[in-house]
Amino acid sequence: PATTLDATVDNISGRELDAHWMPFTANRAFKADPKIVTGADGMYFRNASGGRVLDGSSGLFTSAAGHCRKEIADAVDRQLRELDYAPSFMRGHPKSFELAKRIAALTPPGINRVFFVNSGSEAVDTAMKICLAYQRARGRGTRTLFVSRERAYHGVNFGGVALSGMQKNREAFGFGLPTVAHMRHTWLAENKFTKGQPEHGAELAEDLERMVALYGADNIAACFVEPIAGSCGVLVPPSGYLERLREICDRHGILLVFDEVICGFGRTGKAFAAQSFGVTPDVMTMAKAITNGAQPMGAVAVRQEVYDTVTESASDGAVEFFHGYTFSAHPAACAASLAALDIYEGEGLFERARAMSARFLDAIFGLADLPVVTDIRGYGLIAGIDFALANRPGLRGNEIQARLFDAGLHVKATGDCAIVAPAFIVEDSHIDEMCSVLRDVLKSY
Ligand code: PLP
Repeated sequence: PATTLDATVDNISGRELDAHWMPFTANRAFKADPKIVTGADGMYFRNASGGRVLDGSSGLFTSAAGHCRKEIADAVDRQLRELDYAPSFMRGHPKSFELAKRIAALTPPGINRVFFVNSGSEAVDTAMKICLAYQRARGRGTRTLFVSRERAYHGVNFGGVALSGMQKNREAFGFGLPTVAHMRHTWLAENKFTKGQPEHGAELAEDLERMVALYGADNIAACFVEPIAGSCGVLVPPSGYLERLREICDRHGILLVFDEVICGFGRTGKAFAAQSFGVTPDVMTMAKAITNGAQPMGAVAVRQEVYDTVTESASDGAVEFFHGYTFSAHPAACAASLAALDIYEGEGLFERARAMSARFLDAIFGLADLPVVTDIRGYGLIAGIDFALANRPGLRGNEIQARLFDAGLHVKATGDCAIVAPAFIVEDSHIDEMCSVLRDVLKSY
């Protein structure tokens, strides 16, 4: 049924909806049957008729501590009254330094220099430029090729699109993309319905060795992977896979970059997936839950040697890295992030994500008997549910996420996969509610 728009939005005529060209949205379908949220609190959104919609994906993997946290709203409010904006080039403000230190305390030892940006996409493109700058600064300027993976999502700026392994995101924009060689993805039929890390597939990391054989190590700057490929369906790394990537990168002087935009800040039960899987990259990207979704922000954290090499290669007094954004380390975003980190720490939310994982995954894997469900994967507080294809890719996924919303559950779908990733404050009752709506909708297929 079409959503009835309530008093807060009932003056939105079709014409007014028309002006907004919505991102990654079927605009015509949306405007014919808008899925509007007008408020949020804790685990729930409020829809346009005032009804509650359980948030099964923490917004877009952003709102890890639940929605509308007062502490964050107050911190942003205070910050905007005290210092609303500070020029980000050649000027600083106290909170960005404090935040960088706090983030460096959460990342694995040795990764302790943090560059601020405004989104995951900016984090990825910034990380690519850092890798190029580093290789050049250490006299390896021929290393300009990147290696990534099929079924990867690294955002939508040109660098990130080139890294990503998604046909639809690339096909209209192919001209002039940076050169990227793609390893195979890690989905294997023999790992279907595996909870946690799959047993088979560590040898897929040898694809990186094949890239070295084909292109030459002297031409490769960095290897980018999501520790868990999130948006493309929650592909959990096979046991031993990330370790092998690390070994191959070390052997050939290739930087290893973990895109932790979804995994970072507790989703896998530790601060970062690097710690959950016990593999330390050279560079990490992060965004989304860095502010609990309350302000746009991202960051790139690097090993100190990467920072030192780039900065020491410039002459005294010169700018060392010609890159940055007007809104890098915006004071309001820094204030939101510091408040979010206080909540994560004060409420032990990363530990809570770890503690709730078994209950959550058991419940989601309980949907495996439904005929439309062809595979389920999951780790920590994130799971992907694949649906049998109907006519063309994405059709069924789109329809199911719309029906779930109407039935009171928000879930992010990519293609024909639903990605369930609740906030870390999730209770047993929310997991039950989520799975009951999922079962009700999915059983009709
Ligand atoms: N990298 C990864 C792994 C992501 O999942 C995303 C977004 O989902 C991005 C990058 C892009 O982030 P943003 O949408 O904030 O630009």
